[in-house]
Amino acid sequence: MKTKSILTEMAPYKPGKQIEDVKKEYNLEKIVKLASNENPFGFSEEVKRKLPALLDQLEFYPDGYAREIREAVASFYNVDENQLIFGNGSDEIVQILCRAFLEKGTNTIMATPTFPQYKHNALIEGAEAREIPLTEDGHHDIEAMLQEIDESTRVLWLCSPNNPTGVLLDQETVDDIIERTPEHVLIVMDEAYFEYADTAKRYPSIEAVQQHNNIVVLRTFSKAYGLAGLRIGYGIADARLVAAMEPAREPFNTSVIAQKAAVIALDDQHFLTQTVAETQQNKKDFMKFCDDAGLRYDQSEANFLLIHLPISGDEMFEYLLTKGFIVRSGEALGLPNSIRLTIGSKEDMQSVQYYMKEKLMQEG
Ligand SMILES: *Cc1c(COP(=O)(O)O)cnc(C)c1O
Repeated sequence: MKTKSILTEMAPYKPGKQIEDVKKEYNLEKIVKLASNENPFGFSEEVKRKLPALLDQLEFYPDGYAREIREAVASFYNVDENQLIFGNGSDEIVQILCRAFLEKGTNTIMATPTFPQYKHNALIEGAEAREIPLTEDGHHDIEAMLQEIDESTRVLWLCSPNNPTGVLLDQETVDDIIERTPEHVLIVMDEAYFEYADTAKRYPSIEAVQQHNNIVVLRTFSKAYGLAGLRIGYGIADARLVAAMEPAREPFNTSVIAQKAAVIALDDQHFLTQTVAETQQNKKDFMKFCDDAGLRYDQSEANFLLIHLPISGDEMFEYLLTKGFIVRSGEALGLPNSIRLTIGSKEDMQSVQYYMKEKLMQEG
C-alpha cells in the first residue's frame, strides 16, 4: 500500500503529556496541566446543569446546518447566518480551508513558529508552505510575509494572538496587511485566544469581514469558553466565501452535544468575564515574578506566556514534570531555551513559580 508521498515525510501531531501518564510515571497525586492552553477554570456551570436534560434523541444525526448555534453566534456578532461555518474545533476549519483553497502548484504563507496545523494541512494538500520567522520579539514579520506573495499564493495565515508567543497583531499592522494583500489571496485571522486579548487592543476583525471578501476569522469554544473536549469552533467570512468552502466540509462535522453546549456557553458571558479577569490577573502576577527573576517573556495577549530561560526548555520541562506540572518545552515548539506556560489558578501559578526558581537556583 502507498499513502500520499508527503505523508511519509510527516509526523502525526504530538500532544502534550497526558495527566494519567504523568501521575503513574512519577507517582504523583496531583497533576496540573499547563501545556495546551486549556481553561484551568473549567467551563460554564450552566452547561453542566442544563446539558444533561437536553441529551435525548442521540440516535439521530446532528443538524448539519447547526441551526441553533448558528443563530446564536450570528446574533452575538450581528452577522448573517450564512457568514458562518462550524467545525469540529477551529482545527477542522483550518483543514477545510486547506482542502478548499490549496493544491499542488499553489503556495501559502505563514509565520514560524505559529500554530502548526496550517502547514500540516497545507502540505497534505500538496501546496508549498512558505514560513517566515517571527521577529526577535515574537511579532509576525509582515514585510517579509507580504514579499512572499505571488500569483500562486492562495492563503496568508495570521495568528493573533500568535501561538506559541501570545503576541497580538496591532490594529494598524492588520489594516496595512489587508490593504497590501492582493484580492486573490485569502487572509485567515486565527483568533483562538481573542477573548483573552485586551479589548482596547483587539483588531475589529468582524468589521473587516463585512468590508472585504477575502478574510476569514476563526474563533473557538475550546479556549476561554473551556469546551476543548467537545470540539467546536467556527469561521466568519463573506457569505460567498463561506458558500465556496462548504463543499469541503463533512455534512455532520459537529456533534449534537457540542452544538447544544456551545449555545449555553455563549449565553453565559458571566463565566467568560470571570475566566478572562482571573487569567489576566494571574498572568500579571506571573509577569511580575519573571521581571523579578530576570526572565524575559513575549508580550502575550493570550492565556499563556512564552518564557525565555537561561537553560534549555527541555530541562525545565522535565524538572517541572517531576513536581507535577506539565508545561510545553520551547524546544518542541521551535523556540529553544524557553517554555510555554498556560496561565493557571493563582495557587498553581505560585507553586510553579516556586519550582522554576528552585531549578534556576540549582543551575546557578
Ligand atoms: C488551540 C488553537 C486552535 C484550535 O482550537 P480548536 O478549536 O480546539 O480546534 C486554533 N488555533 C490556535 C492558534 C490554537 O492555539
